[in-house]
Amino acid sequence: MLGECHAHVIMDGVNYKNAVALHKNGVCEEAVRKNLKAYQDAGITFVRDGGDAHGASALAKELAGEYGIDYRTPLFAIHKRGHYGGIVGLPYDNRQEYRDLVRKAKEEGADFIKIMISGLLDFAHAGTLTEEGLTEEEIQYMIGTAHDAGMAVMAHCNGDETCRYAIRAEADSLEHGAFMEDETLLMLSESRTVWIPTFSPIGNLLGCGRFPDEEIKKNLDGQMRRVRKAAELGACIGLGSDAGAYLVPHGKGTADEHAYLRRAGVPDGLLHEAEEQIRLRFKRP
Ligand SMILES: [Zn+2]
Repeated sequence: MLGECHAHVIMDGVNYKNAVALHKNGVCEEAVRKNLKAYQDAGITFVRDGGDAHGASALAKELAGEYGIDYRTPLFAIHKRGHYGGIVGLPYDNRQEYRDLVRKAKEEGADFIKIMISGLLDFAHAGTLTEEGLTEEEIQYMIGTAHDAGMAVMAHCNGDETCRYAIRAEADSLEHGAFMEDETLLMLSESRTVWIPTFSPIGNLLGCGRFPDEEIKKNLDGQMRRVRKAAELGACIGLGSDAGAYLVPHGKGTADEHAYLRRAGVPDGLLHEAEEQIRLRFKRP
């Protein structure tokens, strides 16, 4: 049984604002348990969280054993102030603050470091992102600093150029990775970076009416094409659904993502290999 390599236990797949608000005055244990139970019911025994700003994934890690789940968390994701990432973590303004956050995560028991280095898909306009990514120098600094602290790095990253920077800086995993072009896919396939293409938060929007289906389909087809190509090149591709995101419920999201990956021609053997890499590398040093 494949695990879930990208989830946010703080969210519920329905409305992130309401879900996050539950934890505003301390973590809501009931909500965390409900999501852990969804994994248990689906027979999923490995979950890697993408972080949150309210301690939900930290509590999930404490409780996960009761549900037979090996749970890995960065506790919170780290983003540059003024850029995307506030919904899943904490901001920094300068390098000293970034280093302090890496130290804080490590001291508080994070299994790895999660960084946010680009915007996200603009779902209403295929092929575009909500903002530009960070500079190569900044990305190298972020990944290098985490590695120096002995921590693996999960990088939220979209856009061809930004993905190239992240791969070159040896990010341990690349999350989403939209719009990578052939040269970048080749570079990916020659690297140790695991790609988690997260089809579900795109594909599950089809028919929901919030965004034009035509635009969603273009983004989904593009990602399918690039994943197919990466798999042919021998890149390491893993299963992570971004569960908790809109229309991606915990438990069901993992099954949805598996179906998308199959459609993109990724064999289960490859997914198991990627998960093995993640299990080995994304744990406390
Ligand atoms: Zn995520």
